[in-house]
Amino acid sequence: MDLAIVNAWILTLAKNRLGIIKNGTIGIEGDRIGFIGSTDDIDTKKIDVIIDGKNHLVMPGLVNSHIHTSLTLLRGGAQDLPEIEWMNKGIGPLAKHLDSKDLILGSKLGVLEAIKTGTTTFSEYTRDVARLVEQVYLPIGARVVATETINEVAQVNKAALKPSDLYEFDNKKGQQALTKNDQLFEKYKNKPLVSCMYGPQALDMVSLDTLKTIKENAISRNSKIHMHVAQGKRERLQITGRFGKDASTVKVLDNHELLDNYLVAVHCHDTEEQERELMVSKNVKMVGCPSSISIIDGIIPPIYHYFSLGGKVGIGTDQAPGPGNHNLFREMRTISLLTKTQFRDPTAFPSWQMLFLITIFGAEILGLEKEIGTLEIGKRADVISFDMNNLLLTPMVSNPFHNFIPNLVHSATGTEVDNVIIDGKLIIHQRKFTSINEQKIIDEANKRAEKIFADASDDWKAAGSQMVKDVEKGLI
Ligand SMILES: [Zn+2]
Repeated sequence: MDLAIVNAWILTLAKNRLGIIKNGTIGIEGDRIGFIGSTDDIDTKKIDVIIDGKNHLVMPGLVNSHIHTSLTLLRGGAQDLPEIEWMNKGIGPLAKHLDSKDLILGSKLGVLEAIKTGTTTFSEYTRDVARLVEQVYLPIGARVVATETINEVAQVNKAALKPSDLYEFDNKKGQQALTKNDQLFEKYKNKPLVSCMYGPQALDMVSLDTLKTIKENAISRNSKIHMHVAQGKRERLQITGRFGKDASTVKVLDNHELLDNYLVAVHCHDTEEQERELMVSKNVKMVGCPSSISIIDGIIPPIYHYFSLGGKVGIGTDQAPGPGNHNLFREMRTISLLTKTQFRDPTAFPSWQMLFLITIFGAEILGLEKEIGTLEIGKRADVISFDMNNLLLTPMVSNPFHNFIPNLVHSATGTEVDNVIIDGKLIIHQRKFTSINEQKIIDEANKRAEKIFADASDDWKAAGSQMVKDVEKGLI
């Protein structure tokens, strides 16, 4: 065995159970889990590197099912705004001043921040995703499901468009993005850390013809289509404008045989209950981003309803501006509280279910359930350990029940994660990155962001969002 964490509490989350092992050991051979069980049953002399897991809890690495890391330099840049202002008056005027290096630096910041709080798999969604894979994910050693954004809306002066003006499509632009998306599969076929999905941005931003080609390609590559679905009023206006007044995203997708197990549908907050029933019956997977959608839209994503119908749901963090960060421990608590409040039901989304949402359910949604998401012999070694020896997680008891299960969701902050192993490699050891200078990234990010925000200042003020007025009042 190359590496093992010994004497720990272990949550395997295998076979739909918590799989709690007391005084357990997880052993890693190469990139896979080679042993899991009681420490008494393994000869520790045959382990090269031993990490003492006393007062620690070991669990599968977390899966972020929808993330755009490259906007992380704009953290805090568009907050407490009306939804209609968030994109055009909030984040837009700042994002205009990001260059390609800033997107990479922002992505590094986002990925490192997320790994520190236990995320090991990232379902990354962006234009030129290969650049992030090459310059961020592979050098850091994080697992990534790369999705290339395919957006076919013609380049026009968007500011001059009214929300009800129908977008024109530029088929060539769509084809170019699709080609890039296709190439990812070939490029990364021998990289175990990388898998790929197709990324039509949303039904209002891609033509049906292109969507049909994407579907054919997804079938031939046995991949999935990762798409924003039913994101709200602006999308609905485009869909009714294009397809008739009774049309909705879900209905159109269904009519064109796009609603099936190939689809990973993100957000879905502008859907009717019956539409969600239809999606579940067709085996569509859903991803919800609780902090992002509640903060930006003032809406609770329909994660619980979808889950209650028997649908598979994963959790994502979207981008840092708005939700703030990429900490999945915080997302568990957020959706649990929102759901309990929404349904006035304190039993909705109990703690143990939250743990599945951010691990094996995420893995299933991304098609990686055979490789990651639980701790089982033969699976890839994506493992985190959690230091329970701190004020927030004390006391820790195991009889007559394990109080650390609810405490992981409702008292932990995520910063208790102290060892992170991805694909068998120790990425964080005792809270420190083993081969990355974290402080250097923080310093670079601060320096660059200061310039970006200053350069964007005039544009941002001219856009005149609610935040601009708040600044004038000295409130931010
Ligand atoms: Zn998104």
